[in-house]
This record gives sequence, C-alpha cells and structure tokens, in this order.
Amino acid sequence: MTSRLACAAGPLTGREWREKEMSERMGDSTRRRFLEGFGLGAAALSVAAEGAQTSRMPGQPLSGEAQAPASNPSSIMAIAAHPGDAFFAMGATVALQVHLGGQGVFLSLSLGEKGSARIAPAQYGLLQREASERAAHALGARVEFLKYLDGEIPLTEEAKLAVCDSIRKHRPSIIVTHWRGSWHKDHQACYRIVNDAVFYAGLPALARERPAHEVRKLFFADNWEDAEGFTPDTYLDISPVFDKWMEACAAFPMWRGENGFRYNDYYGSLAVGRGCLGGYKYAVALMSPAEQLTRRVQGL
Ligand SMILES: [Zn+2]
Repeated sequence: MTSRLACAAGPLTGREWREKEMSERMGDSTRRRFLEGFGLGAAALSVAAEGAQTSRMPGQPLSGEAQAPASNPSSIMAIAAHPGDAFFAMGATVALQVHLGGQGVFLSLSLGEKGSARIAPAQYGLLQREASERAAHALGARVEFLKYLDGEIPLTEEAKLAVCDSIRKHRPSIIVTHWRGSWHKDHQACYRIVNDAVFYAGLPALARERPAHEVRKLFFADNWEDAEGFTPDTYLDISPVFDKWMEACAAFPMWRGENGFRYNDYYGSLAVGRGCLGGYKYAVALMSPAEQLTRRVQGL
C-alpha cells in the first residue's frame, strides 16, 4: 500500500495542489531548497514511500504521509547519557542513516560504569567502552565518550560547550538524544545539555576552535526510562537494519537482562509494536521538538 501521493491519476490532494502551485511560482531548485528549509527532504517532492503498509482502521482519519528516504542521506549523531541508551534506544536510527549512505556518530557523556551490581565501576566502564566500540564498528559508525561520571553528569556550561565542540567537529545534520521526561537525572541533564549545545554549535559569534554548525533536525528517542510525556510523531522504518542492530546491541553485557532489565526483549518487541503503528515491519518512534513540527501553509 502506498500513501495518497502515489494516486496521482485522481484529483489532486491538498499537498499535491500546493506543490503544483509552488512549482509554477518557483524553479525546481528554488522549490527544493524551500521545502528542505521546512524539514522536507528532496524525496518528499513527488515520491511515495515503498513498502509502507497501511496501519489505519476503516473510518479512522488519515495520518501523515509516508515518505521515501531522502536522496541525500543525512549524517546523524546520537548523544546519550550512557552507552546503553545510545545503542539500544538510538542505535537503530543511526544504523538506518548509515545504511542509507550517511555518517553515524555515537557520543556518550559517560561510560555508564555504575550500571552493574556485581562488577566494580572501573572494570565495568572498560567493558562498556569495549562493547560500544564493537557495536559501533558493526553498525559502520563511530563512538566517542566524554569524561563525566555515571550518575554525576553535570548540568554545566562546561558540559554544554564540550558537546557543542563535538557537534562542530562531526557536523551532523540530525541529532537524536534523550527526551526530558525521564526519572533518571543523567538523562534529564543530557536533554538540557544537548538542547543548549545545539544552540551554541550554531552560533557563529560563539568562538570555539571550530566554526559554527547548524543542526537541521533534532529528535528525541523512545527510551523506557524517558517515558513521561513522550509522544511520538515520526515512525522510522528500521526493517533493513533490524537484525544488524540487534546483533550489535548483543555486544553489551547488560543486553540480555544481566543487570535486571531485559533490554533485548523490550527494544526488540518495541520495534515490532512501533512497526505495527508506523506501517512497517520494524520501526522506531521518534519525537520532535514542538517548533520543528510547525508547518507554514497557504491553505489546508
Ligand atoms: Zn541511561
């Protein structure tokens, strides 16, 4: 099944009408830049997504249109408080962008070294670092760490500027990070740090070692610890990378529930559930900042 965009033989949908009207007023390249400026990839111009199944019940109002991948895959950076969050909650999103031809970077603000009740932090931190490096390699991405202690990630200007510098170094188009509605203080801090770091990274007048870089889109990940007020607005088809991502996550000692939570069962079945809602075999659900969803239209 495809979205309404595929049924171009019939009367024009509102969106097709707007695009036709826009085409008549702008050259194609101008129009492309215009749409990209509002967060719509080049592929949104006229192509319906392949492989999207309908997830709508009879009589239910239409939801958003399915879009094929952008023809210019975007580089992405996942910024998390702990390596497990980076790879389990954000890893499939990064893996998909890499699969599509983009660059992927994982940045963990700590090693998550206090996550085991049996293994001392110094040793567990090493295991976490090794697992992250193996998982990143398996996904064709890079991983870096900041120096903060697990459970003690500071909400400071120093931390915000450190993340700003990392963003300026890797220059991602997209960042995925924690949603603020978390019980975990490190996750809450990460949300605040990343939001301000994105702002700092894009400020040309803020002099750092590297020049300013503007991040095009920010997304919040679907994380079992950040569930309060998490409202997905984007379903990403991760079917092509699901197996590879699950195998990469298995590098972590805690993946199979060794520390008390069955990450493999949770995130594996979450991908199935989100896939049902999104119309794909496997999907991750993402949430956008409210202002990113603003649409500017001249008719509905
Ligand atoms: Zn965490």
